[in-house]
Amino acid sequence: MAELIFRTGTMDAGKSTLALQTNHNHAARGRVGRLFTSHDRAGAAVVSSRLGLTALAQEVEPDFDFWRYTVDALTQGARIDYFICDEAQFYTAEQVDQLAKVVDELQIDVFCFGILTDFRTRLFPGSARLVELADRTEVLQVEALCWCGKRATHNARTEDGVMVTEGEVIVVGDVDTDPEAAVHAADDVDVAYEVLCRQHHRRGMTAARARAVSLSPEPLPFP
Ligand SMILES: [Zn+2]
Repeated sequence: MAELIFRTGTMDAGKSTLALQTNHNHAARGRVGRLFTSHDRAGAAVVSSRLGLTALAQEVEPDFDFWRYTVDALTQGARIDYFICDEAQFYTAEQVDQLAKVVDELQIDVFCFGILTDFRTRLFPGSARLVELADRTEVLQVEALCWCGKRATHNARTEDGVMVTEGEVIVVGDVDTDPEAAVHAADDVDVAYEVLCRQHHRRGMTAARARAVSLSPEPLPFP
């Protein structure tokens, strides 16, 4: 029986690395798969991991139809045993429904990898639909850490170094604090991401701010 599996974790929990490893493991057994991604940090149509591995992939645009794509490929004689779907949080709910149909009707395994919640702590629509539909949802064992050492469960977005909790849901940046890695948005704001524990996400306490506060003679500005 084919399955729809959702593997989730925070931004630097190693999801893309696991996506590529999963692809490798199945390909090594002679199975034939296809890779998909959306807004990968390396650019369109590539699955890239922070450890330096990359693989070509099909970019999932908002109007991409997984069901149509799969039926067309099979009709043309292609063999498909599994899909690797990276950055699945960016897929639409409809696309996740299509993936469930591909699993059930065409017996193709679908392995999805993605972040659960956005920088506002809200579920991404694609992730919400995956939690609703997946045969299994697994939280990745490689856990990212907040600067305080606690388990990082939330994704923070910073703009020019300041944490924000409002804005467009999809702005691609990196968790690397190196300004070179930050994405220059249209209005020339440096957007970056950082993983935090819930307490420090609630307080807007990024690593940089914690450092600044610890050097400041003022009392801690906690409410
Ligand atoms: Zn913390």
